[in-house]
Amino acid sequence: MNILVLGGAGYIGSHAVHQLMDKGYEVVVIDNFQTGHRDALHPKARFYEGDIRSREFMRSVFEKEKIDGILHFAANSLVGESMTEPLKYFDNNVYGTQIVLEMMRDFGVKHIVFSSTAAVYGGQEVMPITEEAIAKPTNTYGETKLTMEKMMGWCEHAFDLKYVSLRYFNVAGARQDGKIGEDHHPETHLIPVIMEAALGKRSEITVFGDDYDTTDGTCIRDYIHVEDLIEAHILALDYLQHGGESNIFNLGSNQGFSVKEIIETVKQATGIDIPVKIGERRAGDPSKLIASATKAKHVLGWNPTKTTIEQIIKDAWNWHRHHPNGFQR
Ligand code: UDP
Repeated sequence: MNILVLGGAGYIGSHAVHQLMDKGYEVVVIDNFQTGHRDALHPKARFYEGDIRSREFMRSVFEKEKIDGILHFAANSLVGESMTEPLKYFDNNVYGTQIVLEMMRDFGVKHIVFSSTAAVYGGQEVMPITEEAIAKPTNTYGETKLTMEKMMGWCEHAFDLKYVSLRYFNVAGARQDGKIGEDHHPETHLIPVIMEAALGKRSEITVFGDDYDTTDGTCIRDYIHVEDLIEAHILALDYLQHGGESNIFNLGSNQGFSVKEIIETVKQATGIDIPVKIGERRAGDPSKLIASATKAKHVLGWNPTKTTIEQIIKDAWNWHRHHPNGFQR
């Protein structure tokens, strides 16, 4: 089977490509290197460099390749940036998805597994969050992902398309063989930011607010290992290929950790004392996001195996420590 991975040179997309290849899929990758890395590409995947927003480019790939299913990771994903540059998010995320869906319609591709986010939920009272919770994003990033989910829903009405939307909570860790991992410029995600501080690449880590209504006042998030996350995508593809209905699933661990707890765990894993400063709240941050992942386990048969925060941080540290400058040699 030929699977097209959009954004296959990025952090999560490259892990998907490697795991699909491990399982014997034929993989076609599209990436424009906006945030991806050439060295994250799998040498055996067929690669096309270009932008999903270019109709001509996308048409040329779909004309050459017979695609059986799509994994869509090509999007901007930073909460903070989405609040200061909202139109960048509508352009790349929403308009980019429009072109992807046009190609699916025009070339008769029926199945798409979509990278969505817990940010669609916004502030919720009830934890853990189930898929039935009413989505009310508190940031532009979440709003664009919710819009993309709705676009797929309306396209399903109009033409024969089935989708699975996977709402990720906080993805971290790296491939266990250490070949690929997380490398953003600039880095903004909590775990890699702490690791940059551990490596002396930044002088301290700033906690974005300690006056939230949580146990220690810092935000609580649910962390999931990137390899477990990708397993769910492969199961979702399988589910669609076997006639599964369009569906939405949370991917998380049912457990939350505060920013301070994550900093402590990284300190322990690295044995390095990291200077910590308390700063202002970051715009758009909900105080608490914890997933109920029961539905993905029941319907997809998802069985995450790297579920402890220590394991996630260990694999992330293994990558960062051996690649202090990321993919840059
Ligand atoms: N965070 C922080 N300092 C940092 C980076 C992140 O305090 O340098 C906090 C952030 O405000 C949020 C949590 O860590 O509460 C996770 O943020 P991240 O950007 O990793 O993921 P998000 O939850 O925004 O997808």
